[in-house]
Amino acid sequence: MSRKFFVGGNWKANPTTVKETNELIELLNKAKITANVETVICTPFIYLSLVKSKLRSDFAVGAENVFNKDKGAYTGEITPPMIKDLGVTWTIIGHSERRDILKEDDTFLASKATEALKAGLKIIYCCGEHLEERKAKKEKDFVSAQIDKLIPAISADKWDSVVIAYEPIWAIGTGVVASTADAQEMGKTIRELIAAKVNPGVAAKLRILYGGSVKSDNCKDLAAQPDVDGFLVGGASLTPSFIDIVNSPP
Ligand code: PEP
Repeated sequence: MSRKFFVGGNWKANPTTVKETNELIELLNKAKITANVETVICTPFIYLSLVKSKLRSDFAVGAENVFNKDKGAYTGEITPPMIKDLGVTWTIIGHSERRDILKEDDTFLASKATEALKAGLKIIYCCGEHLEERKAKKEKDFVSAQIDKLIPAISADKWDSVVIAYEPIWAIGTGVVASTADAQEMGKTIRELIAAKVNPGVAAKLRILYGGSVKSDNCKDLAAQPDVDGFLVGGASLTPSFIDIVNSPP
């Protein structure tokens, strides 16, 4: 089963000005993409319209987060229909920074997934263990429990709109990348779980990304792993090396 390689850039709360945002757009607009890759640029809500209007159309645009309701008395929230209406097609859900800093739990995140898919968005759903679970050799149990909570939130006809990003928290923004063997092992574990609990057809088609200190010097080895179907990239998505990562599949 061939799965189209997928690279997501997650700008997080960088940039903080329109000027910086325009500089990032310019960097991407002049990039030479040689590989057959689906690329999605996820930006702060406030810059989504700007990026959507100026970024060349072979890059899709995504939000970094979304609320779990469609509309109503939810002061300050950004709902899936608002994002969809801008022509934005993707959203990240469950990034570890939202799980750990903002205490968003699996139940809340699963409800965001349901609502985003209902509005017609596609989702990059993040999972991944802390160093503590990895040291205790509990990483598979921890990640499996996260995915177990997601599964009932996705109806059978929506799995084509889901990408799962395995992002070990100890690797995010630390410069410590997972070994190719560990990234492959966790990708395989997630795929086997989906095969057992959803069905083998969905598992075979599902794209499973690795995220955590992906850089131009480690992306090729990671991209060669059979259960690494792409990357979610934080820090490097703000630099020219992002293009090397986009061009990394064999
Ligand atoms: C991320 O935040 O999703 C991420 C993978 O960050 P970094 O690439 O900087 O480790």
